Amino acid sequence: MKTNYHTHHELCGHAIGTCEDYVLEAIKNNYQELGFSDHAPNSRVDDFGVRMKPKEFTTYLEDIKYVQEKYKNSLTIKKGMEVEFFYDHAKYYEFLKGELDYLILGQHYISHTKQMNDLKSSFALTSDKDIEIYAEFVCEGMKTMNFNILAHPDLYMCGYQDWNQKAITVAKKIIKCAEKTNTILEFNGNGFRRGTRNTPQGKTQPYPRIEFWNLVKEHNVKTIFGVDCHSPEQIYDTTIKEAEVVYKNLGTNQVEFLFKK
Ligand SMILES: [Zn+2]
Ligand SMILES: [Zn+2]
Repeated sequence: MKTNYHTHHELCGHAIGTCEDYVLEAIKNNYQELGFSDHAPNSRVDDFGVRMKPKEFTTYLEDIKYVQEKYKNSLTIKKGMEVEFFYDHAKYYEFLKGELDYLILGQHYISHTKQMNDLKSSFALTSDKDIEIYAEFVCEGMKTMNFNILAHPDLYMCGYQDWNQKAITVAKKIIKCAEKTNTILEFNGNGFRRGTRNTPQGKTQPYPRIEFWNLVKEHNVKTIFGVDCHSPEQIYDTTIKEAEVVYKNLGTNQVEFLFKK
């Protein structure tokens, strides 16, 4: 692998390592371009240990700037963030875009009312309505054109599990929306760390779900591999190498570099 744009940072509270720790591992593993995309601060989401505090945003930018200068001859380093789509957040995305090179949409929550006070984790969606709303959130997000990549688009299968007609409809909606908005779909390597479980379709990791990616193949949509590392040694470990083989064999329209050389 030559690039990775899904890299976390200890500031979020559930990852370890500073920018330098990740950069050294990336260089060791012959990456050419590395993008940081830690969980974006959001004062309106009350989820301790999930994201940096708003006042830590400057620390994050400074830490990236430090490695960009120090390692400029060995690695191209980009500034990004992984952020959820919420309604009424237009100004927030404008602010983030002004400070960063790119944004990844990672829809870790949905709301049945489009409000901020009844957020439900996207890892635990179980009903048809839940996953319909998940599709609505990610599509509304993509339509804002603020996001370069949609992380783990098939995250809704984590709780839903059954690849039935509803799951297919939701997948098609997401994939078509990515195609229309030219958003790159991320095949998430970190999902391979979450073990396997029994589903009506047999034993599989919660995500990525191969059925989803077989549908992606039928559309004119770009895909990218995301390591989603939460510790430096995960950058190119055996799990990522296994996931990479699965990804390479998918036959999707795969891009490696997010920025033109
Ligand atoms: Zn995380
Ligand atoms: Zn992530």
